[in-house]
Amino acid sequence: MTFDPETATFLIAGPVRIHPRVLRAMSMSSLNHRGDYFHGVVAEIRELLPVLFGAKGHQLILTGSGTAGLEAVHSSLVPKDRRTLVLTNGNFGDRSDEIVRRYSTNVTTVKAPWGQPIPLEAVRAELDRGDVGAVCVVHNETSVGLANDLGAIAPAVKKSGALFLVDGISAVAGIPIDVEGWGIDALVAGSQKGLAAPAGLALVHLSDRAVAALHPGTFYLDLAAHLKSLDKNDTPWTPAVPLFLALREALVLLREEGLARRLERTHRLAEGARGAVDALGLQLFPERRHASDTVTAVRNPDGMGDPELRKALEREYNVLVQGGQGALTGKIFRVGHMGIADWPDLLVTFAALERILGKAGRLPNPGAALRAIVDRMP
Ligand code: PLP
Repeated sequence: MTFDPETATFLIAGPVRIHPRVLRAMSMSSLNHRGDYFHGVVAEIRELLPVLFGAKGHQLILTGSGTAGLEAVHSSLVPKDRRTLVLTNGNFGDRSDEIVRRYSTNVTTVKAPWGQPIPLEAVRAELDRGDVGAVCVVHNETSVGLANDLGAIAPAVKKSGALFLVDGISAVAGIPIDVEGWGIDALVAGSQKGLAAPAGLALVHLSDRAVAALHPGTFYLDLAAHLKSLDKNDTPWTPAVPLFLALREALVLLREEGLARRLERTHRLAEGARGAVDALGLQLFPERRHASDTVTAVRNPDGMGDPELRKALEREYNVLVQGGQGALTGKIFRVGHMGIADWPDLLVTFAALERILGKAGRLPNPGAALRAIVDRMP
């Protein structure tokens, strides 16, 4: 078997596989983005966005990948006159730190080693020191397959009165998020993850108090300008029209499944993946109790790097999973199981992994990984 991008079993950590209905929705001739038809599309998307976020609020669609959403939020909401606290324990937390530092010189970073939980005591201590205007955190650290415990961090942030700005790019529609209960002021989603739409749009949820606090940030991503246009189902600049059409269909699919059922399916798939990793005799990268439900990060077995494992999956079995980032390159591989990923994807991926490890004489218990998955199927 050779790699074929059109038929591959596709379990990278996003973009994820796209449903044919969503693909077809994009195949339309150019639309007048200032015309009634397109305004109708935007109106429908706005009605559907609460299904994605699990909450109502001010919800925007930005042309640009997830990072555009983060830059929009950080540039418009990070205070100039007070401290911003950035919490990081992975590549995307570090990137948020970089973005925030473009827009403020008053930043404190609370850092944990990549893959370790964020130290709650250090967060509380920084908040107690006072003068914190905003706290930025990644909910699901895709780079290390770890979900940060926002439920534990949120009460301290709430008590401090700081704005709570959350990168939910690989969390939204993948793991439960209590937007209102946790007092989240800005939540950024990417179209290409749990929603299973094509890459290229950022979805942003804002609280009332975030809207009141907006200041001009970047010109293109000025959230106040976007909100003003959106009131008329419009966008300030020419939007990525085909992606909006795809987004509408992906949201309809999500509504048909229901957010709760998508979260439950994603959780079960994650349990299947974790069970299969154990059965292969491999180790999760993060501590199990912090392991993400959307991305499973696994240590490469000793002596087997990307060429022997991940590239062999691609070359010999037409299966795509993702490698590590930064210092973790060649040390871990990551299996994404969000969006419309399903049991057949997981079975094919772990069957191929069994075969590769078996051929290398490193399979402790043949068939056990597939058994672990099958046992967790509904
Ligand atoms: N934050 C997180 C948690 C991510 O997983 C990603 C992408 O994988 C990003 C930020 C960056 O998003 P994008 O590549 O869509 O700009």
